[in-house]
This record gives sequence, C-alpha cells and structure tokens, in this order.
Amino acid sequence: MTSLDRFLLTGRVAVVTGGTRGLGAGFARALAEAGARVVIGGRDEAAGAEMVATLADDGLTAEFVAGDVTEDADVARLLARTLEVFGRVDVLVNNAGACVHAPALEVTDADWQHVIDVNLTAVWRVARTFGRHFVAQGAGSIVNIGSMSGMIVNRPQWQPAYNASKAAVHHLTRSLAAEWGPAGVRVNALAPGYIKTDMSPVDDPQFRRQWIEDAPLQRYGTVEELAPAVVFLASDASSFVSGSVLVADGGYTAF
Ligand code: NDP
Repeated sequence: MTSLDRFLLTGRVAVVTGGTRGLGAGFARALAEAGARVVIGGRDEAAGAEMVATLADDGLTAEFVAGDVTEDADVARLLARTLEVFGRVDVLVNNAGACVHAPALEVTDADWQHVIDVNLTAVWRVARTFGRHFVAQGAGSIVNIGSMSGMIVNRPQWQPAYNASKAAVHHLTRSLAAEWGPAGVRVNALAPGYIKTDMSPVDDPQFRRQWIEDAPLQRYGTVEELAPAVVFLASDASSFVSGSVLVADGGYTAF
C-alpha cells in the first residue's frame, strides 16, 4: 500500500450532516471522489436530490436522507437508512451548523439555544448514535466540524454563542476520542478559518480588514481546498490521529 492509497475510501460508507450546501456539500463530494459511498443528511429535499443527481453524473454514489439534526427521530433514521441502503457505515462528518452575529448583550435566549442546539447538542447526539454503532463494530472515524472560533474571538462581528459552541465541540471531540479509542474508533475535529459559504460573507468589504488582511495568507479559503482535510481525517491516512483539532485557517490563529 502506498502513502496515497491510505487516503482512499474505496468500500467505505460516509455520512455528512448538513450536506446539501456549503462546506458539507464539498465534503460529501470529496469523500465520494476518494471512493466512498456517501449519505447526505439535510433538511432541503430538493437540494439533496439535486446533489445526488449531480454526483451520479460524475459516476459517484450518494443517497440523500432528509432530516433535522436536532430531532432525535431524524438522527436515528439517518443511521438506519444508511445501513438499509449501503449495509455499513464507516465515517461520520458532523458538519451541520448555525451562527448568529450579535453583541452579547443583544443575544436572546432563543438565539443562544438555537446555536447550542445545532452546533453542540446535535453534534453530541449524532456522534452518540453513530458512535454506539462504531464501538460495536470496533471501527469508525468521526470528524466533527469545529472552527477557529473555538480558539479565538472573531472580529469585528460578535458571536458569543457560536464561539462557545465550537470550543465545546473541540473538547467533546477529545472526550469521545479518549473513551472510544480502545474500541478502535477515532474522533477528530476540523477547525476551519474563513471559508466562502453562505455562513461566511467573506467578500463583504466591512470584513476585509480583519478577516482577510489579518490572515497570514491574506485571503479566504475555498470549500475545495478545505475538503481534502476531511478526507485525511476520515481515511486511514490519519490512522494514528485521534483527539486532534486540525486547524485549516490560512494561518489566522498564528497571531
Ligand atoms: P452554511 O450556512 O453554508 O451551511 C450550513 C449547513 O448546515 C446547511 O447545509 C444547513 O442546511 C445545515 N443545517 C443547519 N441547521 C441544520 C439542522 N438543524 N439540521 C440539519 N442541517 C442543518 O454553513 P457552512 O457550510 O459555512 O458551515 C458548515 C460547518 O462548518 C458549520 O458547522 C460551521 O460552523 C463550520 N464552519 C464554517 C466556516 C466558514 O467560514 N464557512 C468556518 C468554520 C467553521 P439547510 O440548507 O437546511 O439550512
């Protein structure tokens, strides 16, 4: 086996939550390009069907499973349907996320709860559901999408709930890696910097000074250049990596 072969996911099945747009869509495509059969979880059925069709046009195998990550029944169905369609599951990418920009004194309880529900509680519940299966089968790789916001405080926009949720995701990642490592299950997080998606309006001039000019690489990242990091963490290329938070931020957190 060559070093490059270790990145291949041939024969594996990978599930990506929030996979219908943004980073999740890019992660799903990259995992499929690496050889995995992919299950895309999401709320937008039309976008899910379109993604499956687009991937199929490129000879890639994917299935869409509708559901909300904050609904326990939907999470259970995501696992059940994956096993029904593909007969196995090897990789979980916990990607679905939400952000509210507001100064702390203006964050409502509803805003706070929404961000924590999607970014932390759902990540925990989806990880627990798939982790139970992975522990029983003695193998599996979980990639939680954290953020550099779990390590620094972003400027100029304030987003205290988001920052707190992502810091918690990083430490939940370490906790699960510690517990499930003996069972052969790896758990890692990816902490991206500013990547162009609906969530990050990287082209907006009001953010240019602090988001772009403050970064050592002096630019934002693209989904395409981030996605291979997920393939690395999902695959045997990272077989001795667990409990890690891989930062991919153009150097932003170096300062
Ligand atoms: P987007 O807002 O572009 O996409 C978010 C995705 O999450 C959508 O597919 C959305 O689905 C899904 N989602 C949100 N809530 C739910 C829910 N309750 N149930 C199911 N799916 C849900 O964000 P990004 O692609 O930018 O972000 C993806 C992940 O990466 C997030 O965890 C985010 O925090 C993280 N991240 C992003 C960075 C960036 O700069 N873009 C930087 C660091 C981290 P729907 O279409 O139904 O709304």
